[in-house]
Amino acid sequence: MAQWIPEELLKNTSLIEQLADVAKDAALLQGVLMRIHESPNSSELVTYAPFTLFPSPVPKPVFLQALAVATHYNTLIDKISQDVDFLQEALASTIEVDDFTARLFKIHQLIQKEGRAQSIVLGLNRSDYMLDQREDGPLSLKQIEINTVAASFGGLTSRTPDVHRHILKVAGRLEESQAILDNNPAAGLAGAVAKAWELYGSQRAIVVFLVEESQRNVFDQRCIESELWKRNIASKRLRFDDVYKKGSLDQDKKLFIDGQEVAVVYFRNGYMPQNYVSEQTWDARLLIERSMAVKCPDISTHLAGTKKVQQVLARPGVLEKFFPEEPQAVELIRATFTGLYTLDMGPEGDQTVAMALAAPDRFVLKPQREGGGNNIYGEEICQVLQGVKSSTERMAYILMDKIHPTPIQNYLLRRDAPLTISNCLSELGVFGVYVRRGKDTVMNQCVGHLLRTKSSEHADGGVAAGVAVLDNPLLV
Ligand code: ADP
Ligand code: MG
Repeated sequence: MAQWIPEELLKNTSLIEQLADVAKDAALLQGVLMRIHESPNSSELVTYAPFTLFPSPVPKPVFLQALAVATHYNTLIDKISQDVDFLQEALASTIEVDDFTARLFKIHQLIQKEGRAQSIVLGLNRSDYMLDQREDGPLSLKQIEINTVAASFGGLTSRTPDVHRHILKVAGRLEESQAILDNNPAAGLAGAVAKAWELYGSQRAIVVFLVEESQRNVFDQRCIESELWKRNIASKRLRFDDVYKKGSLDQDKKLFIDGQEVAVVYFRNGYMPQNYVSEQTWDARLLIERSMAVKCPDISTHLAGTKKVQQVLARPGVLEKFFPEEPQAVELIRATFTGLYTLDMGPEGDQTVAMALAAPDRFVLKPQREGGGNNIYGEEICQVLQGVKSSTERMAYILMDKIHPTPIQNYLLRRDAPLTISNCLSELGVFGVYVRRGKDTVMNQCVGHLLRTKSSEHADGGVAAGVAVLDNPLLV
């Protein structure tokens, strides 16, 4: 993948400084915003969400490949979420040793036992990829993970195309400016929420955005809220605590919070152990799961997005089981898998340990966590594995091949950070949405993309984690 920005532009520091100022104003103007970390719950002081000065090159064929596989990933996640035996088997070892996943799994089992109150299912996924470039080998699209809960930045990324278009014009690159793709996941995500709301069938009922204590990324969510209000659908931002204190079910299991009926609960919280500050938080999650409200995601779809499930899917024959009559779907999905290895007890897991210890730089060691900053790389893989290799504790992890994208030079614009040129790696996310009622899939769409770019010094990623920044693909 070629560096598209000419050297003379990249190295012209006074021009870069001018462009950076223009870029920050453009971001503020377009609403690419974040609250500052000193006051995450007040909009008195806001800043631009971090982003790249220039868009990054992405080869068109792999970009189209990522879009084309999105609806198949939706179908796959939806099928997994309905396959009780598969989830039980796939997660059996993990839940023995990982308390958080075990706790989620217990809710899933309880709901299975009691019976689901709601047959409408709403999925808002983001499948993340990097472009693997091995020596002399072809460039290939490889999945990092799929996010089935609280997948973020669909809102803000809907506003970044105009920022890059503007910067490129100011930089005299009209042709590239015109090549920046339209992208509006905010509308697509809201469209699916709206469809679920409509199927729920009560004009009075609202959509609840279940949000974190700290709300730095509020504007990303506001973009989706505002798309719902455009459709005259009322939404409210609430916390687990509000649900615990003011939530109840009526005899039909309709969810009421503070006297208001809830049609859809969209989780932007509840994906990390730290989100569950007390037993009351777990009670609130359970209340929602038991209710008639449409949950995005419901507990089984949440579990379908775990890294352990991702690893099990890569085993021979597993995808075929989900798509017995669609070899093409199997082929499209499998093409995006990189090597994924079990650390369960037994000879196969022992082999994974030996392989990782022999060449730790080839792999990433992943626990069942979301939100960035949890994965283990390089020498630390050896330290961790030496500690857990003989005990069942190792089953909390999976091992994955490390993907090697080609670094590209760019400037990362971030509040309080010096303007320096960085070697950057990009990660392409694709948003998929679906709605099902009982056996009928009512909607299954790809609704846009997200390019995030980070300095190659960082092994891990994440915009909210403070590592990656927003970007746009420039198709080449
Ligand atoms: P999380 O759920 O915490 O977001 P991810 O699996 O998405 O976990 O990993 C976080 C980040 O780590 C990614 O955004 C990416 O930058 C990096 N990463 C994860 N897996 C790999 C991999 N196999 N190869 C290279 N980088 C990876
Ligand atoms: Mg991730």
